[in-house]
Amino acid sequence: MLSRLVPAPMVRWFARPYVAGDSLDKALDVAARLWRDHGALTTLDVLGEEVKEKARVDANVKLYASVIDALGRDPRFAEVAARPSVSLKPSAFTVGGHEEARAPIAQLAAHAHDRGVALTVDMEDRRWTDFTIDLAVGLFERGNDVGTVLQTRLNRTEKDLARIPPGMRLRLVIGIYPEPAEVATTDKWAMKERMVSFARRLLERKVFVEFGTHDRPTVERFVREVAPLDPDRCELQMLLGVPRMDLLARVRKGALGPALPVRLYVPFADGWDDATAYLRRRMAESPSVTWLVLRNLFSRGR
Ligand SMILES: Cc1cc2nc3c(=O)[nH]c(=O)nc-3n(C[C@H](O)[C@H](O)[C@H](O)COP(=O)(O)OP(=O)(O)OC[C@H]3O[C@@H](n4cnc5c(N)ncnc54)[C@H](O)[C@@H]3O)c2cc1C
Repeated sequence: MLSRLVPAPMVRWFARPYVAGDSLDKALDVAARLWRDHGALTTLDVLGEEVKEKARVDANVKLYASVIDALGRDPRFAEVAARPSVSLKPSAFTVGGHEEARAPIAQLAAHAHDRGVALTVDMEDRRWTDFTIDLAVGLFERGNDVGTVLQTRLNRTEKDLARIPPGMRLRLVIGIYPEPAEVATTDKWAMKERMVSFARRLLERKVFVEFGTHDRPTVERFVREVAPLDPDRCELQMLLGVPRMDLLARVRKGALGPALPVRLYVPFADGWDDATAYLRRRMAESPSVTWLVLRNLFSRGR
């Protein structure tokens, strides 16, 4: 794959707009600035998936606990409505099977609950779908502010909607992981149509919908056609660094329909190795971005 050809320092250079930095303090500063200057909420994510050693699992639990502690006591987020949430990936908490991730994530959910911080369990590839829904719904039903994610590319998602209870937060995305045609649509248009229709169904069941896309027409449809059903249960979400701040501002100010909260997904690294892996994934998703990086690389000095 083309993105593997790009050397790590080049990936790091490319990472700058997408990653808040290589420390928690830098991530907190970015979150505070986004809130102050743009009225944008954030969710903080520590980069690093597919852990290979148990020590790394323990380190991830400690790191997330320190993120939650920092969010709970940072005076810039004293107002709970402004406080960033945290997002985590189950594969960062196991070196064995999926089940091994359950206890550490439950521990973090309880920790977050005690400090008034919301937590979202991100969705990884289809091998994780059942486990992630089951875990997140269970934690929500035990009184934690825990949400999760469903991917509209997967054909099974239509049925999975019914597993999300009223009141829970559910981020809808097309899905970043390439999945085989036997279980998923490969048609982006269909994925986006599903985002709009699934959002409507979730709202009708009083689920809080976090609509995660950068696609302008799909955002406009969500805000104009779906959000008016129940604007208090809608939020628009995007990834840090994807240049759509104008669109976020218009949605937040109600220029397209009801005014909605907007939230940016803010990944940060505890060192650069994990950030490099994350960015390679982004580049694999967007070959045009890889091309841009390669072109910059090969035209240096000319
Ligand atoms: C807040 C948030 C959380 C997410 N969480 C998950 C998750 O838990 N699990 C999961 O599988 N996926 C997750 N995703 C990723 C999601 O599934 C999509 O892969 C991603 O959002 C791109 O799809 P899109 O709907 O923006 O449409 P696209 O058609 O891919 O993008 C629309 C336009 O936005 C721009 N764009 C989109 N992405 C980028 C980028 N990375 N860099 C530069 N420009 C870009 C392009 O100009 C493109 O034309 C998340 C996305 C967001 C916004």
